[in-house]
Amino acid sequence: MSPMATQRDYYEILGVAKSAAPEEIKKAYRKAAAANHPDRNPGDAEAVERFKAAAEAFDVLGDTEKRALYDRYGHDAFSRGGRQPGFNDVNDIFGAFGDIFGNLFGGTPRGGGSRAMRGDSLRCGIRLDLKQAAFGCTQVVEIDRNELCATCDGSGAKPGSKAEKCAYCGGRGQKIQSQGFFSMQITCPACRGAGEIVRDKCSKCSGSGRESKRIKLDVKVPAGVDNGMQLCLRGEGEPGDRGGPRGDLFCDIEVAEHPLFQRHGQDLVCTVPLSFPQAALGTELDVPLLDGRHHLVIAAGTQAGDIVRLRGKGMPDPHSRRRGDLLVQIVVEVPRNISPRQEELLRELAEIEKKDVSAHQKSFIEKIKDYFATDESADKQP
Ligand SMILES: [Zn+2]
Ligand SMILES: [Zn+2]
Repeated sequence: MSPMATQRDYYEILGVAKSAAPEEIKKAYRKAAAANHPDRNPGDAEAVERFKAAAEAFDVLGDTEKRALYDRYGHDAFSRGGRQPGFNDVNDIFGAFGDIFGNLFGGTPRGGGSRAMRGDSLRCGIRLDLKQAAFGCTQVVEIDRNELCATCDGSGAKPGSKAEKCAYCGGRGQKIQSQGFFSMQITCPACRGAGEIVRDKCSKCSGSGRESKRIKLDVKVPAGVDNGMQLCLRGEGEPGDRGGPRGDLFCDIEVAEHPLFQRHGQDLVCTVPLSFPQAALGTELDVPLLDGRHHLVIAAGTQAGDIVRLRGKGMPDPHSRRRGDLLVQIVVEVPRNISPRQEELLRELAEIEKKDVSAHQKSFIEKIKDYFATDESADKQP
């Protein structure tokens, strides 16, 4: 970046007043960094420049001493050491302001020093049937995961050789660079922040210290899980850099549909078909449960759509373990094909019903009459 071209006022870059409080400056920088973050603007060179400019401005205004100097001398305060304050590499920004990015982007800062860094998290899926979801189970998941290279034990150096401490930064991974009245910390360009340099690379992992392995893990699934839930296995992600802790493994739960039960949260719905005589006369039948069966007495005169609630026969709540209900929903089926004898009996039944119309049917017939009457008179109006 050309120093002269970016001599814009630091307050102007961050869009804050000269009197802005430190918190305000920090907030403005976070906003600018988030908007122009290289991860969110892939291939946008202008965004990277804005990202760098905001970092440069914050490097000065975010520090009480540097800000005081800037307020007094302007950009001149920092031009005496020959080098402008600024960041050549985006990773230097992450190194310098890692703590801000840490909670801004929910991840670990990239680059930046030889301190240990937590490994990346991994994701996998677990498919269950409804019974497994209801009662819990142990599932085996297979994932591809980086492990420390067994040949070099993760060092990246050929067996028998050792990684050497980086002479340029003395093994710290950071370099102090003087600029005018103050000095700034940057990621060591010689070792890229690792603090050490591998001369004889391990042939197995080409110096990365990692090798991808397919591993199997037993995952204990608690009772009551549902679609879209996620289990987190702490410390089962990728290994961290420089001895940092492993990331986590997130397992997405997917529960397959069941042929008999529909799930509504903790409740299950099971549809039970009855014939017209069964519904009219009442009957007894076994309804399926997740574990076994339940003998159900259907009362005479049961209507289509009636629901029988079996308390505590649904899915357990994963937190409270309290179980929901099983709702038995009655449907009355009309036969598609009937025998001549069935037809004979149904016609006989229809004859009786014509003479002996139920109260419900009677009121329906009255309503229909009224409806047609008003409808027809409305039609006659001009
Ligand atoms: Zn190796
Ligand atoms: Zn170094």
